[in-house]
Amino acid sequence: MTARRQEFASDNTAGLCLEAAAALAEANAGAAASYGDDDRTRRLCDRVRELFEIDCDVFLVFNGTAANALALAQLCQPFHSVICHEYAHIDNDECGACEFYTGGSKLIPTGGAKGKIDLREVEAALARQHELHSHKPRVISLTQVTEAGTVYAADEIREISVFAKKRGMFLHMDGARFANAIAKLRCAPKEITWRAGVEVLCFGGTKNGLAAGELVVFFNKECSADFDYRAKQGGHLVSKMRFLAAPWLALLDNDVWLKNARQANEAAFKLASGLRSCDAEIVFPVESNAVFLRLDLTFAQKLRERGWDFYKFIEPNIYRLMCAWSTSEADMSALLSDFGEARSCASAAR
Ligand SMILES: *Cc1c(COP(=O)(O)O)cnc(C)c1O
Repeated sequence: MTARRQEFASDNTAGLCLEAAAALAEANAGAAASYGDDDRTRRLCDRVRELFEIDCDVFLVFNGTAANALALAQLCQPFHSVICHEYAHIDNDECGACEFYTGGSKLIPTGGAKGKIDLREVEAALARQHELHSHKPRVISLTQVTEAGTVYAADEIREISVFAKKRGMFLHMDGARFANAIAKLRCAPKEITWRAGVEVLCFGGTKNGLAAGELVVFFNKECSADFDYRAKQGGHLVSKMRFLAAPWLALLDNDVWLKNARQANEAAFKLASGLRSCDAEIVFPVESNAVFLRLDLTFAQKLRERGWDFYKFIEPNIYRLMCAWSTSEADMSALLSDFGEARSCASAAR
């Protein structure tokens, strides 16, 4: 049995980046105040305000599911609903955490090409809500980078926000891969967040090279009242918060977060071009650190037999290969070489 290779299964199979690991060790020298009342957490919150060039409210929770669920609970009453894309992590991969934390809010998935919200679809979904008898639409949630690896441009986000505001709705951004979007767009973080109308951002660090810790950033401070209580009750007030804050600071210092994201994006780009030369069918534009391929079942099995782990993302035959800050040339050539071999075996078997 070949050892399983995790390099392309997800960007959270990667380790901590060296800067984060060093910061963790450094934070381990001596005692510090608990529950976020320490220097490093304070510096992190200031650093995030600097980065977004606005006086926002910043909170740190353990993971992305909690960040999304707590943020949406903050915006919604139990009788509200959240419009999202049908691929959205909040709807497919969070075990109902949003429904649970909101105490009854409903997620309404909508279609849209390339993983992006399509306002015509949203409009149609809204038209299907019967006043008083359906949940009251309250939030549009978009994912940046999308679950299909594509990236919303600032004007696309602004258009969604204008649509939302007109209907008295808030805009939430699941930014588990926010760094990869900024690396792709090369814009200031404010351009695709508060300036484009986003009220709250869940800013992911884990897939960028941390062990844990996601930020919930409220640009609209009217939305953040008592969020600290909500997080505590939900089990997300970290007592040794400095150990999440220190590696986060290390990411933001010297733009390590962007360096990591660029490396991951470039790896996906190279991988995609290698796969194309093996005649692979790539189904979404490669704009970040993911490559989506259409593979037939026997071919996917051949790759798995060679030890590679990767997920089927969309039924029946679309698979995802994910790159991380740590993806190496050697990993890529090993995969491409197995891909080439599996291809010739698969066609020989036909
Ligand atoms: C990874 C991911 C999250 C966070 O997942 P956790 O496992 O809860 O940290 C949220 N949204 C998207 C789009 C993701 O890919």
